[in-house]
Amino acid sequence: MNPIPYGKQSITQEDIKAVTETLQSDFLTQGPKITEFEKSFANYIGAKYAIAVSNGTAALHLAAMALGVNENTNVITTPITFAASANCIRYCGGNVYFADIDPDTYLLDINKVEELIQSKPNGFFQGIIPVDFAGRAVNLEAFRKLANKYKLWILEDACHAPGGYFTDSDNVQQWCGNSQFAEAAIFSFHPVKHIACGEGGAITTNDERIYKKLLLLRTHGITKDPALMLENHGGWYYEMQELGYNYRLTDFQAALGLSQLQRANEGLKRRREIAKKYNEAFNAKKGFKGQSGYVEGHAYHLYVIEVENRDLLYNFLREKKIFTQVHYIPVHLQPYYQSLGFKKGDFPNAEAYYEECLSLPIYPTLTEEEQQYVIDILNDFFYE
Ligand SMILES: *Cc1c(COP(=O)(O)O)cnc(C)c1O
Repeated sequence: MNPIPYGKQSITQEDIKAVTETLQSDFLTQGPKITEFEKSFANYIGAKYAIAVSNGTAALHLAAMALGVNENTNVITTPITFAASANCIRYCGGNVYFADIDPDTYLLDINKVEELIQSKPNGFFQGIIPVDFAGRAVNLEAFRKLANKYKLWILEDACHAPGGYFTDSDNVQQWCGNSQFAEAAIFSFHPVKHIACGEGGAITTNDERIYKKLLLLRTHGITKDPALMLENHGGWYYEMQELGYNYRLTDFQAALGLSQLQRANEGLKRRREIAKKYNEAFNAKKGFKGQSGYVEGHAYHLYVIEVENRDLLYNFLREKKIFTQVHYIPVHLQPYYQSLGFKKGDFPNAEAYYEECLSLPIYPTLTEEEQQYVIDILNDFFYE
């Protein structure tokens, strides 16, 4: 048996052909593949606009900028996420607040968010960054109601959930990142995520104003659009109107993303099959707790279990060449965030979850044989 990681990209001959063709074209960057990819991705997600950027962290940074985050901004997110979900607020000088997770879904607990909001003066908070952790869709309809009540924006971190959805109160399936209930959403195209570009990311939104701002911020704050410029000195002329960055994706990365997007539904289907099989294998067993069973609309970036002797299990699996992972070390316990005043004991549900969580291998090219091997080894550990 080959080593089995917790997640892995799949690259086909078509992917290689798509990248090679773009390498032989006139544009390595700032060419036509970017817009093509953006259009296809927006269409896949069900949002009006998508802006491709160099990675998911850049997507968070630019989205935070476009939402106006500055030194006076206070934003709430979950401690069970990748650090970048919180860091983007710090990049803009804003303050990060965490609210605890729901111990059954592992998602930001909306009641804890409201308690936090009410514990501060009126108008203290400006935004919320909910995360579709592991691929499980946050109920953004509920968060929208809360956000409207307190005049907050919502930036959905949907890195784990392209193709995931929740069902709203009108019985409509609301796709993660479709920005129906959020100002904007962000995605990552890192190889462990659903769609791989090597490095890459995107912001989706339905708001034209945010879209235009993001286009500017992605390339240094520079525009060459005569309609937007204050002056025009000739063909060479451009204006830097804001302090932006170079957060562009290249055309060959976009070509890879486009090619991967063709197989996104197939990959999602396979992830759900794998999750179902794990669920059937462990559901009724003592000592296991999962993200509340098999969940409809879950995009299964991760398949997380909770076990009491997690550290032993992690090492046992490693010896058998099964490389599981822990998602995540609570962000508020990272030394950087502790230096800002957060400490152990602040978010008991997140901390208890961290003691027991483990992400099992799940990716489209995981074979049935490999998955059965993982299940057998886990059974050996627990029941023999
Ligand atoms: C991967 C990830 C990011 C950051 O994406 P990069 O492309 O690695 O910068 C942000 N948030 C979450 C939840 C992620 O999983």
